[in-house]
Amino acid sequence: MSHPVISDRVFNSVESSTVQIADKVKTLRESGKTVFDFSAGRAFEDTPSYVCDAAVAALNRGETHQTMARGTTEYRQACASKLARENNIIADPEKEIVATMGCKQGLTIALLTLLNPGDEVIVEDPCFVSYRQIIHYAGGRPVPVPLLPKNGFRWRREQLEAAITNKTKAIILCTPHNPTGTVHTYDDLEEVAVVARKYSLSVITDEPYERTVWKDRQHTNMATLPDMKNLCVTLMSLTKSFSMGGWRIGFNYAHEDLVNQMTKLQQHLITCVSSISQAGGVAAFGQPERDEVLTFRREWEDKVQFCTDALNKIDGLKCDMPEGGFYVWVDISEIDISSEDFANGLLDDQNVAVIPGEAFGEQGKDYFRFTCVKSWDEIKNGLSRIEKFIDKF
Ligand code: GLU
Repeated sequence: MSHPVISDRVFNSVESSTVQIADKVKTLRESGKTVFDFSAGRAFEDTPSYVCDAAVAALNRGETHQTMARGTTEYRQACASKLARENNIIADPEKEIVATMGCKQGLTIALLTLLNPGDEVIVEDPCFVSYRQIIHYAGGRPVPVPLLPKNGFRWRREQLEAAITNKTKAIILCTPHNPTGTVHTYDDLEEVAVVARKYSLSVITDEPYERTVWKDRQHTNMATLPDMKNLCVTLMSLTKSFSMGGWRIGFNYAHEDLVNQMTKLQQHLITCVSSISQAGGVAAFGQPERDEVLTFRREWEDKVQFCTDALNKIDGLKCDMPEGGFYVWVDISEIDISSEDFANGLLDDQNVAVIPGEAFGEQGKDYFRFTCVKSWDEIKNGLSRIEKFIDKF
């Protein structure tokens, strides 16, 4: 360490593989290189024009000032109307919703609200790359519990019971799951809920992919299960489903006592979410989705299926069509290479960026994650380059 004053908490944490690799792609492209990017979960499509128009209109009306810390009344009402329309959840927009800068920031204020130093949080292994780091930043300790392929990347109740100690405070669950693509059914969620009720644990559900469920599957919200509403913090965002990643906009739905504490954190940490993003969020959440967004999301399913089939045809690679989400979780155990070396080699040799599975946890060491929602041209070029790279082994 060259600078004399850097905290252990930050120094000892690792970079976000998704963001770091996506940034590296941008730097390579800025230097004139052609790179095929399947790293971070960022869709190719621009935000639907009706959402952009709403934000521009707000700017032109002079809505350029800070808003209430928990979000504008209109935005929270739009979030509540979305929960009623799509999730069968009746939420009080005054008390049970707080605007966030997307699910990561929503997770940060949830964990800061729930944890005392040394408290434990059960996470899926593999899980989204930032969970473990954010738990550490909030003073907690992540306890990974494997999602095994033989169980369809789903937890069993006994696994959770075995991981519980007197320090366990919360469980984080992502559905549809990043990176494996599992869509948790009511019964899957009930396996977790039984344990949460028994030990009075909080369950944080990360649901940014809720609208990307394939083949007539249904997304189920943990908060709708019996006696779960008060134990849950539901993280929602527009990043994925509306291709609004750069807007940094979402919300947390939780018991009013938790929302009051999380709002206190927003007051100190960010004052409020961008007024312009909230205006866009009113258009996106406040009405049934328009054709523009439904059309590109329908095409995502075709892309996910196409990528799964093409990756499966490459010798040495194995993967299943994800039940939801837009990532393919590709098994490379037949090739004699670590996932880190695979991802680095693929980028160096073929200018193709993917995320190494080990970034998602110990269980990911024989996998890489491939993001499918790119242009057809990029997908086809990238896949043929992966084939060329694998021919070398
Ligand atoms: N959540 C996305 C992913 O898993 C975007 C990158 C990030 O925010 O970490 O790729």
